[in-house]
Amino acid sequence: MLHERLSSIYENVLRRNAGETEFHQAVREVLESIGPVLGKHPEYAESKIIERICEPERQIIFRVPWEDDRGEVHINRGFRVEFNSALGPYKGGLRFHPSVYLGIVKFLGFEQIFKNSLTGLPIGGGKGGSDFDPKGRSEREVMRFCQSFMTELYRHIGEYTDVPAGDIGVGQREVGYLFGQYKRITNRYESGVITGKGLSYGGAQVRTEATGYGCAFFVAEMLKARGTSFDGRRVAVSGSGNVAVYTIEKVRQLGGIVVACSDSSGYVVDDKGVDLDLLKQVKQVERRRLDVYAERRGGNATFVPGRSVWEVPCEVAMPSATQNEITGRDAELLVRNGCVAVGEGANMPTTPEGIRIFEEAGVAFGPGKAANAGGVATSALEMQQNASRDSWTFEFSENRLQQIMRDIHDRCLRSADEYGMPGNYVAGANIDGFKRVADAMLALGLI
Ligand code: GLU
Repeated sequence: MLHERLSSIYENVLRRNAGETEFHQAVREVLESIGPVLGKHPEYAESKIIERICEPERQIIFRVPWEDDRGEVHINRGFRVEFNSALGPYKGGLRFHPSVYLGIVKFLGFEQIFKNSLTGLPIGGGKGGSDFDPKGRSEREVMRFCQSFMTELYRHIGEYTDVPAGDIGVGQREVGYLFGQYKRITNRYESGVITGKGLSYGGAQVRTEATGYGCAFFVAEMLKARGTSFDGRRVAVSGSGNVAVYTIEKVRQLGGIVVACSDSSGYVVDDKGVDLDLLKQVKQVERRRLDVYAERRGGNATFVPGRSVWEVPCEVAMPSATQNEITGRDAELLVRNGCVAVGEGANMPTTPEGIRIFEEAGVAFGPGKAANAGGVATSALEMQQNASRDSWTFEFSENRLQQIMRDIHDRCLRSADEYGMPGNYVAGANIDGFKRVADAMLALGLI
């Protein structure tokens, strides 16, 4: 339920951003959490901090023309929403997926403000992307698209302005092409302008693994707070992209057994535990579907086409694919099958109804803005290394990541406690993330 003042702010957001349902959902979740904060801090309401936070500082939409291998011309739409720079330069990834439109970019950018704030590092919030579909496109086509995208984007970004990175459909290959074009246009080797780079040209150790590793660390902390651990637990992961793969890797190192993962064609159940080398080969090297994984795994794994991975019984669920992939029905099924913890590796993968069901059932629920913040936090570490022309070891970087995830976990619990919602990580993450941004905005005058 929304506090009266927040309800009129929400109505206004609906009216001013018609049709952008994912953005509405992301705003509503934050507003539902921060009611109690307004009681203690009337200065936030007086200075209309919330109304200001809901309005992006800048929104850029541009044309991206490119030519396919047959010489045919295509036109895509590019976006960069520079949402909030109170804490630092805008920071957040680029998503290339046919579903991308302004509402998706704004939901991601809005969540990014609070996520980045929670990391405790000096980064503002932004997000971008395109409705370009990389699926089935050749290397050369992807490169030409990235070059065309950057030919417009370069004028809006910079080490001190706005620092993009990857997200769905944008990995190290795309970041390389984007950075190469930025360098060519500007004639500057400005490493800190984009993160997620390859190690040979300014990338950071652990950035590739960071979102998945960080999410596993976060869930380990939630389990620890309840006096238990990953040891011997059955874990289901959705997706099989970068976040999923490194979630699986770290969960295994922490003693869990990942029994299922998925892609857009269906899921595989592998009771002995997913074979990570085979998964990486099929999904990352060959860019093929999971039926190929099951086929090569012989009798050990079963591929189930077209169904939801959440029907696989598990004790820990780690949604690592995309938004709204755990519905109320999925959540009910997970609870019935004995799920005790959920860590969101993806952004907003659980619907509001799903979250309510988990909360009512007492499931430890780690929302994306806390649980998957390890990715962007390690991007901030990449920026630090670029600024000091240094590069840190894998071990040192992983320790930093683990410490950051512990701090985020503890901050969520502390804020949830302080505002009378003990154990509620959603409220804790929203409140803590919000307060840091709000205080900076107050201090900086009317911005
Ligand atoms: N796209 C990632 C996220 O959702 C990472 C962003 C970044 O590294 O800037 O947080």
